[in-house]
Amino acid sequence: MIRERIADDIYVFTSRRYAHVTCGAILTKEGVVLIDTLFYPDEARDVRDFIENKLGQQVRYVINTHYHADHISGTWLYPHATVISHARCRELIDTVGRKGLKLTKKQSKEFANASIVLPTLVVREGELDITVGKKTLRLLHLPGHSEDLIGIHLLEDNVLFASDTMMPLPTFFDGDFDLLQASLRKVNEMMPDTVVQGHGEVILRGELNHAIGNHIDYMNKIKDEVELLIEEGLPRDSLDQISIESCGKSRIPLNGFVVDLHVANLYCLYDQLVDAEAARPGLNGHQS
Ligand SMILES: [Zn+2]
Repeated sequence: MIRERIADDIYVFTSRRYAHVTCGAILTKEGVVLIDTLFYPDEARDVRDFIENKLGQQVRYVINTHYHADHISGTWLYPHATVISHARCRELIDTVGRKGLKLTKKQSKEFANASIVLPTLVVREGELDITVGKKTLRLLHLPGHSEDLIGIHLLEDNVLFASDTMMPLPTFFDGDFDLLQASLRKVNEMMPDTVVQGHGEVILRGELNHAIGNHIDYMNKIKDEVELLIEEGLPRDSLDQISIESCGKSRIPLNGFVVDLHVANLYCLYDQLVDAEAARPGLNGHQS
């Protein structure tokens, strides 16, 4: 785990073991707000030990930005904290997350003590402001990477914890292409000074416009490429010919994991576009 201090009272922790996933800690006089927890128990424990033993502070709130296990698996390490998420996130943790943890426990002894924690405070629509100490955290729905994703805008510092809305490669295979583009535009319009991504390095204001433009261009490019392939009647596995570089992205970030994410994006888009075409009225003689 790599620890970085991005302000007097804000820390970002980045995993060395899983896809540079991040979590953040906001220190206040009324306790710590932890945004996500990292994935592997040893790294999640290191974060807790740093906050509780090195800093001598207690975690009062844990925010689950979305239900994906790489972000929230360490929530059980904070039994006295109030856990906050989107309402849909709570449902997904209770269903998909619960099944996933069972499987993870079978695959790895490391997770023997881990358990599912359901958030007790949920935001369903609009925004929710939480004031802790002198900090105001604005929770806002940023769907697209997944349907339940929330970002956290720390108003006094103008820091946005964007979770996986911002990562080196935009991904929507468990979410929605159009919603992700809308959420990326929303992040850009907010003009945060600092963006903590769900994976990878912190982004500063001067870099944000370019990063988001590049993400949106990438998404448009893969859509064009996949549409072309469908029009030409090429089989699904010819998607493998569409390289990440030809869509304007490098294969280097996240130790090359972005290539897997790129392929998953392509296959998801292909299936969605083929399904949409099949559902169009007028085909197969059906009108609706
Ligand atoms: Zn993630």
